[in-house]
Amino acid sequence: MAKRFKFMPTKLTNSSTAMSEFSFAPVAIVHSPYKQKFAIPRQPGLVTAAHGKIELLVDAPHQQVLRDIEQHSHLWLIFVFHATAEHGWKPLVKAPRLGGNKKTGVFATRSTFRPNPIGMSVVKFDGISKVDQNLALDVSGLDLLDGTPIIDIKPYIPYSDSITGATSIMAPSAESTFIDIEFSDCAKQQLQHLSAQYRDLPLFIEQVLLQDPRPAYKKLDLHCQQYGMSLYDLNIRWQIQENQCLVLSIEKH
Ligand code: SAM
Repeated sequence: MAKRFKFMPTKLTNSSTAMSEFSFAPVAIVHSPYKQKFAIPRQPGLVTAAHGKIELLVDAPHQQVLRDIEQHSHLWLIFVFHATAEHGWKPLVKAPRLGGNKKTGVFATRSTFRPNPIGMSVVKFDGISKVDQNLALDVSGLDLLDGTPIIDIKPYIPYSDSITGATSIMAPSAESTFIDIEFSDCAKQQLQHLSAQYRDLPLFIEQVLLQDPRPAYKKLDLHCQQYGMSLYDLNIRWQIQENQCLVLSIEKH
Protein backbone atom coordinates (compact mmCIF):
# COMPACT_ATOMS: atom_id res chain seq x y z
CA MET A 1 0.00 0.00 0.00
CA ALA A 2 1.51 3.36 -0.98
CA LYS A 3 2.46 5.68 1.85
CA ARG A 4 0.07 8.64 1.85
CA PHE A 5 2.15 11.36 3.49
CA LYS A 6 5.68 12.60 3.69
CA PHE A 7 7.14 13.76 7.00
CA MET A 8 9.98 16.18 6.42
CA PRO A 9 11.71 17.57 9.51
CA THR A 10 13.32 20.82 8.39
CA LYS A 11 14.80 22.16 11.60
CA LEU A 12 15.32 20.74 15.06
CA THR A 13 16.51 23.26 17.67
CA ASN A 14 18.05 22.61 21.09
CA SER A 15 14.66 23.10 22.65
CA SER A 16 13.40 20.21 20.49
CA THR A 17 11.01 22.36 18.48
CA ALA A 18 10.44 20.55 15.22
CA MET A 19 9.70 22.72 12.20
CA SER A 20 8.00 20.38 9.79
CA GLU A 21 6.09 20.29 6.58
CA PHE A 22 3.56 17.66 5.69
CA SER A 23 2.15 16.79 2.31
CA PHE A 24 -1.09 14.84 2.01
CA ALA A 25 -2.80 13.16 -0.92
CA PRO A 26 -6.61 13.31 -1.14
CA VAL A 27 -8.41 10.21 0.12
CA ALA A 28 -11.59 11.23 -1.71
CA ILE A 29 -13.12 13.87 -3.95
CA VAL A 30 -16.45 15.68 -3.59
CA HIS A 31 -19.22 15.45 -6.18
CA SER A 32 -21.41 18.36 -5.18
CA PRO A 33 -24.39 20.17 -6.71
CA TYR A 34 -22.51 23.43 -5.94
CA LYS A 35 -20.54 24.18 -9.11
CA GLN A 36 -19.40 27.67 -8.09
CA LYS A 37 -18.70 29.35 -4.74
CA PHE A 38 -21.61 31.77 -5.09
CA ALA A 39 -24.67 30.49 -3.17
CA ILE A 40 -22.87 27.78 -1.17
CA PRO A 41 -24.11 28.05 2.43
CA ARG A 42 -21.59 29.28 5.00
CA GLN A 43 -21.74 26.11 7.05
CA PRO A 44 -22.94 22.53 6.63
CA GLY A 45 -26.39 21.41 7.80
CA LEU A 46 -28.13 24.64 6.73
CA VAL A 47 -29.26 23.28 3.37
CA THR A 48 -30.31 19.74 4.24
CA ALA A 49 -31.57 19.04 0.70
CA ALA A 50 -28.04 19.41 -0.76
CA HIS A 51 -27.08 15.87 -1.79
CA GLY A 52 -23.54 14.95 -2.74
CA LYS A 53 -21.15 12.04 -3.09
CA ILE A 54 -17.70 11.57 -1.62
CA GLU A 55 -15.85 9.34 -4.09
CA LEU A 56 -13.05 7.34 -2.47
CA LEU A 57 -9.61 7.62 -4.05
CA VAL A 58 -7.64 6.02 -1.25
CA ASP A 59 -5.15 3.42 -2.35
CA ALA A 60 -6.60 0.53 -0.30
CA PRO A 61 -9.60 -1.81 -0.55
CA HIS A 62 -12.62 0.49 -0.31
CA GLN A 63 -14.81 -2.12 1.41
CA GLN A 64 -12.22 -2.35 4.17
CA VAL A 65 -11.73 1.37 4.85
CA LEU A 66 -15.52 1.79 5.05
CA ARG A 67 -16.24 -1.26 7.21
CA ASP A 68 -18.73 -0.34 10.02
CA ILE A 69 -19.11 3.25 8.79
CA GLU A 70 -22.90 2.77 8.78
CA GLN A 71 -22.71 2.78 12.58
CA HIS A 72 -22.45 6.56 12.37
CA SER A 73 -25.18 8.93 11.26
CA HIS A 74 -22.85 11.87 10.54
CA LEU A 75 -19.27 12.25 9.32
CA TRP A 76 -16.57 14.89 9.58
CA LEU A 77 -15.00 15.74 6.24
CA ILE A 78 -11.58 17.35 6.46
CA PHE A 79 -10.84 19.05 3.16
CA VAL A 80 -8.72 21.55 1.25
CA PHE A 81 -10.12 24.93 0.18
CA HIS A 82 -8.64 24.18 -3.21
CA ALA A 83 -10.45 26.94 -5.12
CA THR A 84 -9.07 29.77 -2.97
CA ALA A 85 -5.78 28.32 -1.66
CA GLU A 86 -3.66 30.24 -4.20
CA HIS A 87 -4.90 33.57 -2.80
CA GLY A 88 -2.93 33.06 0.43
CA TRP A 89 -4.00 34.43 3.79
CA LYS A 90 -3.76 37.38 6.20
CA PRO A 91 -3.71 37.38 10.04
CA LEU A 92 -6.89 39.50 10.08
CA VAL A 93 -9.99 38.72 8.05
CA LYS A 94 -13.28 40.50 7.43
CA ALA A 95 -15.87 38.15 8.89
CA PRO A 96 -19.18 38.30 6.94
CA ARG A 97 -20.89 37.71 10.30
CA LEU A 98 -19.67 41.12 11.45
CA GLY A 99 -21.07 42.92 8.41
CA GLY A 100 -17.91 42.44 6.34
CA ASN A 101 -16.16 45.56 7.70
CA LYS A 102 -14.67 44.69 11.10
CA LYS A 103 -11.48 42.64 11.05
CA THR A 104 -11.07 39.54 13.21
CA GLY A 105 -8.16 37.17 13.84
CA VAL A 106 -8.11 34.37 11.28
CA PHE A 107 -8.15 31.70 14.00
CA ALA A 108 -11.32 33.26 15.47
CA THR A 109 -13.15 32.59 12.20
CA ARG A 110 -13.97 29.80 9.75
CA SER A 111 -12.56 31.89 6.88
CA THR A 112 -11.43 30.00 3.81
CA PHE A 113 -8.22 32.10 3.72
CA ARG A 114 -6.06 30.39 6.35
CA PRO A 115 -2.33 29.63 6.78
CA ASN A 116 -3.14 26.02 5.91
CA PRO A 117 -6.25 26.10 3.67
CA ILE A 118 -8.01 23.28 5.52
CA GLY A 119 -11.74 23.14 6.27
CA MET A 120 -13.96 20.83 8.26
CA SER A 121 -17.64 20.07 7.79
CA VAL A 122 -20.07 17.69 9.46
CA VAL A 123 -22.42 16.05 6.95
CA LYS A 124 -25.24 13.53 7.22
CA PHE A 125 -24.23 10.05 6.04
CA ASP A 126 -26.98 8.59 3.83
CA GLY A 127 -25.39 5.36 2.55
CA ILE A 128 -22.81 3.91 0.21
CA SER A 129 -22.99 3.94 -3.59
CA LYS A 130 -20.56 3.96 -6.50
CA VAL A 131 -18.99 6.52 -8.82
CA ASP A 132 -17.55 4.58 -11.75
CA GLN A 133 -15.46 1.80 -10.16
CA ASN A 134 -14.98 3.57 -6.82
CA LEU A 135 -17.13 3.36 -3.72
CA ALA A 136 -18.69 6.65 -2.63
CA LEU A 137 -20.37 7.97 0.50
CA ASP A 138 -23.77 9.53 -0.11
CA VAL A 139 -23.99 12.61 2.10
CA SER A 140 -26.34 15.54 2.58
CA GLY A 141 -26.19 19.01 4.08
CA LEU A 142 -22.73 19.65 2.61
CA ASP A 143 -21.25 23.14 2.12
CA LEU A 144 -18.55 22.08 -0.35
CA LEU A 145 -17.69 23.03 -3.89
CA ASP A 146 -17.69 20.32 -6.57
CA GLY A 147 -14.19 18.83 -6.88
CA THR A 148 -13.11 19.61 -3.31
CA PRO A 149 -10.27 17.28 -2.25
CA ILE A 150 -10.96 15.42 1.01
CA ILE A 151 -7.90 14.64 3.11
CA ASP A 152 -9.65 12.73 5.90
CA ILE A 153 -13.02 11.32 6.91
CA LYS A 154 -13.94 10.69 10.55
CA PRO A 155 -17.14 9.78 12.36
CA TYR A 156 -19.01 12.48 14.24
CA ILE A 157 -19.15 11.35 17.86
CA PRO A 158 -22.08 13.09 19.59
CA TYR A 159 -20.97 12.59 23.21
CA SER A 160 -17.77 14.49 22.51
CA ASP A 161 -18.43 16.66 19.43
CA SER A 162 -21.75 18.12 20.61
CA ILE A 163 -20.99 20.29 23.61
CA THR A 164 -23.92 21.33 25.78
CA GLY A 165 -23.52 24.91 26.92
CA ALA A 166 -20.93 25.86 24.29
CA THR A 167 -21.21 29.50 23.21
CA SER A 168 -20.06 31.75 20.37
CA ILE A 169 -20.71 35.44 20.84
CA MET A 170 -19.74 36.10 17.21
CA ALA A 171 -21.99 33.39 15.71
CA PRO A 172 -24.63 32.51 18.33
CA SER A 173 -26.98 30.82 15.87
CA ALA A 174 -27.58 30.35 12.15
CA GLU A 175 -28.18 33.72 10.50
CA SER A 176 -31.87 34.18 9.93
CA THR A 177 -33.31 35.81 6.86
CA PHE A 178 -36.96 36.62 6.44
CA ILE A 179 -37.44 35.86 2.79
CA ASP A 180 -40.53 34.44 1.13
CA ILE A 181 -39.62 32.24 -1.81
CA GLU A 182 -41.99 32.01 -4.75
CA PHE A 183 -41.62 30.22 -8.09
CA SER A 184 -42.84 32.00 -11.24
CA ASP A 185 -45.27 30.07 -13.47
CA CYS A 186 -42.41 29.48 -15.89
CA ALA A 187 -40.16 28.11 -13.10
CA LYS A 188 -43.00 25.89 -11.82
CA GLN A 189 -43.40 24.36 -15.27
CA GLN A 190 -39.67 23.81 -15.63
CA LEU A 191 -39.58 22.19 -12.17
CA GLN A 192 -42.25 19.71 -13.21
CA HIS A 193 -40.00 18.47 -16.01
CA LEU A 194 -36.81 18.44 -13.95
CA SER A 195 -37.93 17.13 -10.56
CA ALA A 196 -37.69 13.45 -11.53
CA GLN A 197 -33.98 13.86 -12.39
CA TYR A 198 -32.87 15.91 -9.38
CA ARG A 199 -33.66 14.73 -5.87
CA ASP A 200 -35.49 17.32 -3.69
CA LEU A 201 -34.93 20.03 -6.33
CA PRO A 202 -37.66 22.53 -5.25
CA LEU A 203 -36.70 22.22 -1.58
CA PHE A 204 -33.00 22.49 -2.45
CA ILE A 205 -33.49 25.71 -4.42
CA GLU A 206 -35.71 27.12 -1.66
CA GLN A 207 -33.23 26.29 1.12
CA VAL A 208 -30.32 27.81 -0.83
CA LEU A 209 -32.25 31.03 -1.46
CA LEU A 210 -33.40 31.22 2.17
CA GLN A 211 -29.71 31.75 3.02
CA ASP A 212 -29.86 34.95 0.89
CA PRO A 213 -26.70 34.38 -1.18
CA ARG A 214 -26.44 38.03 -2.22
CA PRO A 215 -23.21 39.81 -1.20
CA ALA A 216 -23.74 41.87 1.99
CA TYR A 217 -23.51 45.24 0.18
CA LYS A 218 -26.21 44.18 -2.29
CA LYS A 219 -28.70 43.47 0.49
CA LEU A 220 -29.13 47.20 1.04
CA ASP A 221 -29.68 47.80 -2.66
CA LEU A 222 -33.36 48.52 -3.26
CA HIS A 223 -33.12 47.84 -6.99
CA CYS A 224 -34.66 44.58 -7.99
CA GLN A 225 -31.53 43.08 -9.56
CA GLN A 226 -31.56 39.65 -11.15
CA TYR A 227 -29.08 36.98 -10.10
CA GLY A 228 -28.04 33.63 -11.51
CA MET A 229 -26.65 30.61 -9.69
CA SER A 230 -25.47 27.17 -10.81
CA LEU A 231 -26.83 24.14 -8.98
CA TYR A 232 -26.07 20.77 -10.58
CA ASP A 233 -26.02 21.55 -14.31
CA LEU A 234 -28.87 24.02 -13.92
CA ASN A 235 -28.80 27.76 -14.27
CA ILE A 236 -31.31 29.29 -11.85
CA ARG A 237 -32.33 32.92 -12.23
CA TRP A 238 -34.00 34.81 -9.39
CA GLN A 239 -34.58 38.28 -7.99
CA ILE A 240 -35.26 39.67 -4.54
CA GLN A 241 -37.37 42.71 -3.79
CA GLU A 242 -37.69 43.63 -0.14
CA ASN A 243 -38.35 40.26 1.49
CA GLN A 244 -39.78 38.55 -1.57
CA CYS A 245 -37.63 36.25 -3.68
CA LEU A 246 -39.02 35.19 -7.03
CA VAL A 247 -37.44 32.27 -8.89
CA LEU A 248 -37.69 33.29 -12.53
CA SER A 249 -36.36 30.30 -14.43
CA ILE A 250 -34.56 26.97 -14.04
CA GLU A 251 -32.75 25.86 -17.17
CA LYS A 252 -30.09 23.36 -18.12
CA HIS A 253 -26.78 25.00 -19.07
N1 SAM B 1 -17.54 24.21 7.23
C1 SAM B 1 -16.23 24.58 6.73
C2 SAM B 1 -15.32 25.03 7.85
O1 SAM B 1 -15.84 25.55 8.83
O2 SAM B 1 -14.12 24.84 7.75
C3 SAM B 1 -16.31 25.65 5.65
C4 SAM B 1 -16.70 27.00 6.13
S1 SAM B 1 -16.41 28.20 4.89
C5 SAM B 1 -16.91 29.66 5.73
C6 SAM B 1 -17.75 27.87 3.81
C7 SAM B 1 -17.49 28.42 2.45
O3 SAM B 1 -16.39 27.78 1.88
C8 SAM B 1 -18.63 28.14 1.49
O4 SAM B 1 -19.60 29.15 1.59
C9 SAM B 1 -17.93 28.14 0.13
O5 SAM B 1 -18.02 29.39 -0.50
C10 SAM B 1 -16.47 27.90 0.48
N2 SAM B 1 -15.95 26.66 -0.09
C11 SAM B 1 -16.52 25.43 -0.09
N3 SAM B 1 -15.71 24.55 -0.71
C12 SAM B 1 -14.61 25.24 -1.11
C13 SAM B 1 -13.41 24.89 -1.81
N4 SAM B 1 -13.16 23.66 -2.19
N5 SAM B 1 -12.51 25.88 -2.06
C14 SAM B 1 -12.74 27.15 -1.66
N6 SAM B 1 -13.86 27.54 -1.01
C15 SAM B 1 -14.77 26.60 -0.73
